[in-house]
Amino acid sequence: MTTKSAAAATRATVYGYPRQGPRRELKKAIEGYWAGRVTADGLRDTAAELRRANRDRLADAGVHEVPTGDFSLYDHVLDTTVMVGAIPPRHRAAVEADALDGYFAMARGTQEVAPLEMTKWFDTNYHYLVPELGPDTVFSANSRKQVAEFEEAVAQGVTARPVLVGPITYLLLAKPAPGVAADFQPLTLLDRLLPVYAEVLADLRAAGAEWVQLDEPALVQDRSFAELNAIARAYRDLGALADRPRLLVASYFDRLGEALPILAKAPIEGLALDFTGAACANLDALAAVGGLPGKRLVAGVVDGRNVWINDLGRSLATLGTLLGLAERVDVAASCSLLHVPLDAGDERDIDPQISRWLAFARQKTEEIVTLARGLGQGTDIIATHLAANRADLAARKASALTHDPAVRARAAAVTDADGRRSLPYAERATTQRAHLGLPLLPTTTIGSFPQTGELRTARADLRAGRIDEAGYEERIESEIRDVISFQEKAGIDVLVHGEAERNDMVQYFAERLTGYVATRHGWVQSYGTRYVRPPILAGDISRPEPMTVRWTSFAQSLSDRPVKGMLTGPVTMLAWSFVRDDQPLGTTARQVALALRDEVDDLEAAGGSVIQVDEPALRETLPLRVADRAEYLAWATESFRLTTSGVHAATQIHTHMCYAEFGDIVQAIDDLDADVISLEAARSHMQVARELAAHGYPREAGPGVYDIHSPRVPSAEEVSALLREGLTAIPAERLWVNPDCGLKTRGWPEVRASLENLVAAAREVRATLPDAAS
Ligand code: GLN
Ligand code: ZN
Repeated sequence: MTTKSAAAATRATVYGYPRQGPRRELKKAIEGYWAGRVTADGLRDTAAELRRANRDRLADAGVHEVPTGDFSLYDHVLDTTVMVGAIPPRHRAAVEADALDGYFAMARGTQEVAPLEMTKWFDTNYHYLVPELGPDTVFSANSRKQVAEFEEAVAQGVTARPVLVGPITYLLLAKPAPGVAADFQPLTLLDRLLPVYAEVLADLRAAGAEWVQLDEPALVQDRSFAELNAIARAYRDLGALADRPRLLVASYFDRLGEALPILAKAPIEGLALDFTGAACANLDALAAVGGLPGKRLVAGVVDGRNVWINDLGRSLATLGTLLGLAERVDVAASCSLLHVPLDAGDERDIDPQISRWLAFARQKTEEIVTLARGLGQGTDIIATHLAANRADLAARKASALTHDPAVRARAAAVTDADGRRSLPYAERATTQRAHLGLPLLPTTTIGSFPQTGELRTARADLRAGRIDEAGYEERIESEIRDVISFQEKAGIDVLVHGEAERNDMVQYFAERLTGYVATRHGWVQSYGTRYVRPPILAGDISRPEPMTVRWTSFAQSLSDRPVKGMLTGPVTMLAWSFVRDDQPLGTTARQVALALRDEVDDLEAAGGSVIQVDEPALRETLPLRVADRAEYLAWATESFRLTTSGVHAATQIHTHMCYAEFGDIVQAIDDLDADVISLEAARSHMQVARELAAHGYPREAGPGVYDIHSPRVPSAEEVSALLREGLTAIPAERLWVNPDCGLKTRGWPEVRASLENLVAAAREVRATLPDAAS
């Protein structure tokens, strides 16, 4: 296939690049600064050097327009808050005293002031700091960071394009400041915010910026009529500014939908659209509005948030179609490369066969450049790349890793009955009550106990060969002994083994399932200086041998009370991994579910009568567009049920979710058909209990009565008060008593005291219940 040459030279660009550096130098410098080991200048030098190296790397790879301003010492939304002067009153003194320390105070809080709240950046695993706005917010422009980083690029001799969070997305991501009415709409501040953006744009123009990119990912979500009007107004006003840079409005993570015709008509010079996955709908939508005559289209054809090589032939076909729809078509990743690790070439431990299928930020940049060359100069010039790419894609498709006939046959044979328990919930509940003989208001925990320094040392010792497998297992067993004995003494009813052997609730299972691949350097930013290394779900999933039974059985052998088996559910296993892109997510989820089902069945066979399958990611994985949610919830709930339905009616299935705002998925939670759910609720216990009751949730539930996110020890009186309130919404036969999440991040002294108080409270309230036989 040969593509005709583009009229205007096609350029390669990216919207953002991983910030951390090849060996997480940024993390080390920032944490060193916090600890007093690195000076402010030292930190600034490291940051400047990392930015320089990134620009070099991008320019050397052939990227024509390099982004600036995407770099951050903590978070780009916080940088935007600084840029528009929306510093919360409680942080102003700190920011005025020292801009850098004030910045970190907003991010992390200090002894005196609370930080900004943190939440997920759309449906990624990156977290941003939520702007706090109110009717009294006064914005003021501070373009210093943006201008300085642009000037660095100019001085280095690379063509650069500053990237800003757009005004609509900034406002839509904000929440009412403390003390402001909960129904306050930050978007009503648009008229106040636009002049600040105008000033920043003018400053960047004065510094020589030809183009500026305004990121508006919030426009890929369902937007109200008023919000769509605000988009039109914002870009009409910014477009009407005299002497401004050319504006590229970027959307990503999904299709633009109703906002597309608005932006196509707006007086801006360029539009960036996502052409991967469901966002491919942008293609037809763009044709339907008559394209972007006279405008620049930046086509995100390389998936910016997953780790697989691009199908270059398919991307060229898409790009070829797009050529007719805009004045000029440039090539990019679908979103910032912030969401993928830096360099697949660093991964020496991955089978070379498989690493050929992987593209991290560095490889994606090369793909973008290759596509831009092919589009601009004809495909002959990239013929070798195309041939190699076709061979790699074919190898991936034919590989035994991605096609395990046994796994496929088993998944294909699944029937509806496999995802249904043998008895309906109400009948199971009776059977379980008789079988388990628990008191009213039973006490339990969410699974993990403190991950102590000794446990981390044991893992490090094992890795370094200082102890052998047997030595390591001895240390874990001794920890389990302590955890069980504490729980027995404290009087907890349903015990856990404490998860001492788990480094991470997804990674632990990924390491034991066939089809998963682990990386050595595949770090991606989760928030601030916290980086995670998501496993790669690369192939068909199977479980060669039991993963947790050994530890749970050992724990059970130490006690007569039930010990709850603990597993991570299929949705969370997908959500916190890089997942394969060569089959629907539901197909992958079903394979994971079947592997986990074997584990659940083995736990039961080993004598387990209570098994918990955690799904903290169920809600966050909800698609951005409402229209896509039903399909997601169907496979998500099906895979959970498939995991948990192989057991007898008497076996009690628990699940756990880490949030209190479950209102929009309460039906799905019910569809999981679990017997007991524990929820994060300590901060609003009553609200959660009432909401469950209001939705008619018929099952047993444990809204958390101990907030594990703080080192504070709740008193027995506090917990009793919460329980009494909870009882006004949920009857005693269905109310559990538990903390609101796992205890792994806490210290033993607080955990001990808190759980003792929790048991005391449960006993006290139990004694006041009418039919308190126990
Ligand atoms: N069982 C896990 C734990 O206790 C659950 C963690 C979570 O909900 N994120 O650590
Ligand atoms: Zn949790």
